[in-house]
Amino acid sequence: MKFLGECDTSMKQAESEAHGLAPSQGDMSAEDFERFGHAVIDWINRYFANIEGRPVLAQIQPGELRAQLPTAPPAQGEAMEAILADVDRLIMPALTHWNHPSFFAYFATSTSAPGIFGELLSAAFDTKAMLWRTSPASTELEEVALDWLRQMMGLPAEFQGIIYDTASVSSMHAIAAARESLDLRIREDGMSGRADLPLLRVYASDQSHSSIEKALITLGMGQRSLRAIPSDAEFRMDAGVLARAIEEDRRNNILPCCVVATVGTTSTTSIDPVPAIADICERERIWLHVDAAYAGSAAIVPEMRHILDGCERADSFVTNPHKWLLTPFDLSALYCRRMDILRRAFTLVPEYLRTPEAETVRNGSDYGIQLGRRFRALKLWMILRYFGHEGLAARIREHCRLARLFASWVEASDDWELLAPVPFSLVCFRAVTSQREGETKAARNTHLDTLNEAIMHNLNASGAAFLSHTRLNNALSLRLAIGNIRTTESHIAHVWQLLNEQKSLLTSSATML
Ligand code: PLP
Repeated sequence: MKFLGECDTSMKQAESEAHGLAPSQGDMSAEDFERFGHAVIDWINRYFANIEGRPVLAQIQPGELRAQLPTAPPAQGEAMEAILADVDRLIMPALTHWNHPSFFAYFATSTSAPGIFGELLSAAFDTKAMLWRTSPASTELEEVALDWLRQMMGLPAEFQGIIYDTASVSSMHAIAAARESLDLRIREDGMSGRADLPLLRVYASDQSHSSIEKALITLGMGQRSLRAIPSDAEFRMDAGVLARAIEEDRRNNILPCCVVATVGTTSTTSIDPVPAIADICERERIWLHVDAAYAGSAAIVPEMRHILDGCERADSFVTNPHKWLLTPFDLSALYCRRMDILRRAFTLVPEYLRTPEAETVRNGSDYGIQLGRRFRALKLWMILRYFGHEGLAARIREHCRLARLFASWVEASDDWELLAPVPFSLVCFRAVTSQREGETKAARNTHLDTLNEAIMHNLNASGAAFLSHTRLNNALSLRLAIGNIRTTESHIAHVWQLLNEQKSLLTSSATML
């Protein structure tokens, strides 16, 4: 695939004019911008059309790309044509293709055409939405687009939204707001060297995402602030244990700060019992944050709205349109019913940022650690308009159907087993073999771990598909996550066939795994 293909006759005609080189001052000429702009869009179009011919997982060794790149920067500008040719030659082989329809690892995601246009325009505008006046469009469109998304998910109007880059950062801000709500003067006096401060506690299930623990590290609360609440057989937080943990902590002068419930955990997409957790938080007056980074998007499907039952009682709630809402990375939406507290935690306005309209508008920099903020709302607004609520819901519904279909093949086979329920578009499963004579349970588990790891490794190394794994009840589980806009039934049928081939190969008498 070449950036400047056959249509590039003007290039050939004017070879000696060094087209594509930067002028001595200013930016690229308008003519070159148009020419290379069209070439890049054409190239992206062909990239999507031919993506299935590429290996999903980059087939290179660590350091291989670096070794092909000059160690020093170019003193003189280089021709755009040469730069784009190197994207083909050097960058492409080093890419893992997240937009490949057979990308099933982690949480599969997708960009989409309106999202790409949104990113392109946002790069052209290059706004820094720190204050309303530095980008009224960004500030107001963010409020509108997030309110549309809130309505689509069926969350109450008291929730106001704000965009951050990732769920990790959204949750960090939510926990900072929870801490601020305790009125401990931490903003002013910090936490270190304070004998008057008890240990603050944050509760989350043992299935919660590592970003919660990282937030505690970042906020100076420390890993010991986290109390992991055990989950039940279906990987959901045990609300009874949570209630008892809070009681015990209070008896020991530990101050509960926040409970994090997860809707759609990372390993299995389990759903914590949010209504029961909300009861506890209300009774105990503890901030409830819901991490629905992946699964929140599913609530836009009317028959799946119930997954957010209880979330209307949360203090804050995060979902990531960059996971399952066709939005190019990055865009995470934090909803908060107590925006004043989030603001109180972070606002700090030096003289040079004072504006007369500050009392009547939202200034984005008041709500987080960043000053400048990207115009992310533009791509979300364009996506919501282009696909519409029903169009987006139809795609999520189809991903869930494909996951259920794949799970039904696993269930019907003696060679495989499901390791967790399938409430969304993720299937946790593993290959199984019949117990060998005299084999202990532990030895069988080790044997199955080795087998499944080998199946995953071989499949990923082939480039035909990309799966990832987790550990469930101390067993290695393969994870097949469906979330790409181009994934169809034929792709999951193909990966099923490849998995079965690998299993037969590895358990045949020749290899005897
Ligand atoms: N929360 C959950 C439940 C997740 O599954 C993930 C990532 O997969 C995250 C948070 C972190 O997401 P991000 O990469 O946006 O920080």
